[in-house]
Amino acid sequence: MELKDYIASIKDYPQEGIIFRDISPLMADGNAYNYAATEIVQYARDKEIDMVVGPEARGFIIGCPVAFALGVGFAPVRKPGKLPREVISADYEKEYGTDTLTMHADAIKPGQRVLIVDDLLATGGTMQATIELIEQMGGIVVGLAFLIELDDLEGRKRIGDYDYKVLMHY
Ligand code: 5GP
Repeated sequence: MELKDYIASIKDYPQEGIIFRDISPLMADGNAYNYAATEIVQYARDKEIDMVVGPEARGFIIGCPVAFALGVGFAPVRKPGKLPREVISADYEKEYGTDTLTMHADAIKPGQRVLIVDDLLATGGTMQATIELIEQMGGIVVGLAFLIELDDLEGRKRIGDYDYKVLMHY
């Protein structure tokens, strides 16, 4: 299947000069959505994953069907103020200023093997903070999976040596 047929590219969104890669046509097509999630499940199958973690909001859309298929749990990564119980947080550098991500402090148990899933890898800041959160709790990040990587932004440099899988490159 040619997954790129299901990605819409929107010029100058959300700002001039940016081409936004919209995954909603992929989500809207049952075959394409199933195919993409299954590719990630196959990547993760032999990694003995205990938990899937995904950043809001599109990380939920891809991560939850993967967790369901693997028969493991899912833990969300959220912006500050969204999770109701005790949280831990990690800051990361954005183009302008810093941002913060949080997880429930008991979301991952020490020694659990974690797969991180998101729709898209851009600068890698979101992933850097997500990895930091999981490792703060004693989790082991055994893989990362994305539908899309924006190669020019060199997010792979920021995530370092972790094993990762990408279904489409732009
Ligand atoms: P990073 O932290 O790697 O710079 O940005 C990645 C995050 O921003 C992901 O969680 C992703 O959902 C979002 N993102 C940034 N650019 C795009 C884009 O063009 N398309 C989509 N679907 N998400 C994007």
